Amino acid sequence: MKPQYLVSTCLFMLIIGFNSHCFSQKLDSEKLDAITEKYTSASFPLLKELLSIPNDAYYPEDIEKNVQWCEKEFAKRSFTTTRIPTATVPLLLAEQKHKRAKKTVLIYLQIDGQPVDTTRWFQESPYAPTLKKKNANGDWEALPWQNIANYDDDWRVFARSASDAKGPVAMFLTALDAIKSSDVTPNYNIKVIMDFEEELGSPHLPEAVLKNTELLKADMLIIFDGPRHITNQPTLTFGARGIATLQLTTYGPNVPQHSGHFGNYAPNPALRLSKLLASMKDEEGRVTIDGFYDGISIDAETEKILKAVPDNEAQIKARLQVAETDKVGSYYQEAIQYPSLNIRGMQSGWINEKVRTIIPGWARAEIDVRLVLESNPERLIRLIKEHVEDQGYLVLNREPTKQERLEHAKIATITYEISYQSFRTDFDSEVGLWLTKALRTAFGKEPIRIRMSGGSIPIAPFVTTLNIPAVTVPTVNRDNNQHSPNENLRLGNYREGIKTMIAILAEKL
Ligand SMILES: [Zn+2]
Repeated sequence: MKPQYLVSTCLFMLIIGFNSHCFSQKLDSEKLDAITEKYTSASFPLLKELLSIPNDAYYPEDIEKNVQWCEKEFAKRSFTTTRIPTATVPLLLAEQKHKRAKKTVLIYLQIDGQPVDTTRWFQESPYAPTLKKKNANGDWEALPWQNIANYDDDWRVFARSASDAKGPVAMFLTALDAIKSSDVTPNYNIKVIMDFEEELGSPHLPEAVLKNTELLKADMLIIFDGPRHITNQPTLTFGARGIATLQLTTYGPNVPQHSGHFGNYAPNPALRLSKLLASMKDEEGRVTIDGFYDGISIDAETEKILKAVPDNEAQIKARLQVAETDKVGSYYQEAIQYPSLNIRGMQSGWINEKVRTIIPGWARAEIDVRLVLESNPERLIRLIKEHVEDQGYLVLNREPTKQERLEHAKIATITYEISYQSFRTDFDSEVGLWLTKALRTAFGKEPIRIRMSGGSIPIAPFVTTLNIPAVTVPTVNRDNNQHSPNENLRLGNYREGIKTMIAILAEKL
């Protein structure tokens, strides 16, 4: 027994010796889990306090309380803070410099939240954070807040902005506390830009960035916002589509006319609008306007990236309850690499209980165009206008005059607005590789990397004005009721979000 025991001990030590690198890595990951666990539990008062401050940007006096809270919390963690004034509420910049740092990372946080309809929340107030668990009937049942000390990963905190996006703010502050206690120092400088008007579309952000390029100067941008991939696995998102909107109106008689007296005689604007819109797309949902998809080609390398995302197409179709999808791409990830032309609403005459026997005076379609990096928004709008002209229309950017109505058989009015452009960062960019490594270290597997999200986020001013690459690090659960009543944050996601941010702060750049 004894000699055998000795031999196996020696062998064991030999293995440890040879694998000391792996062993210490394992220790690191254990330590990461331990400090994550400890600091997550310690952070619940902070999360509750932050979610208790009303943050609808329509009420600047409430926003001021949020600004002050952020100033106080970042100052506590040895950041200097600067208010960047705008025409309404300020942006807040918090900075922390580190010795021997060669790079500066800009972090974008959103503090404001969507408006609330308190009558539709199943709790005292959207600003009274409530701990809930799902009961046997599948309903969310409130628990005393103090039970959070022994939380389950599937329990959730319900409050406005729990996920979008005060949850990530609390995660980040907690991650800062955790690394400080573990003597981990980032080897890069940190600038945090806090937006208090994101839900209003960040109307003052582009100008503020333009005026403060030196103050905001950084090498890369990371955005702590949004939900993970539907599988709830660690995710990085490398781009987002931009957005432009158009309004298209066609005209019939100057006022609605009796369809008995003038049917077969006065042209119908709803039919004209329908034909115009129908002429823009084929049977399978592809835009037929020449040049609309120019410049976009999905090469083999990109296809590999897109196909690595573990989407379940059958599940997506089931969720939407559609039998067939548009054929712009042959699968979901491919479809969102292209600009879209979407009718988001239409109106002409009256329907339902207000229906009447008339030929309407006009018909209108509201259109949105999601933009990708390859598409110049001005060019796409021009192509749409030219297409309408090619169908025999006089295109105006205002209502036609009587003279114009009498001279032109077909008239359309097109007005438009380009909100912001798309951004997209390469997977093998410095920021991309760095964040991928941080998440791989934290979770022991490759993160899901999404080339482009279909929706739009207003951070293009940073990317274009500061000329820096950006990557989004989403952390929250996808079923969080973002923008709706009963918004919530799953506590397992909260903890893993903190772990993600600790790993990013600890990862050398
Ligand atoms: Zn939002």
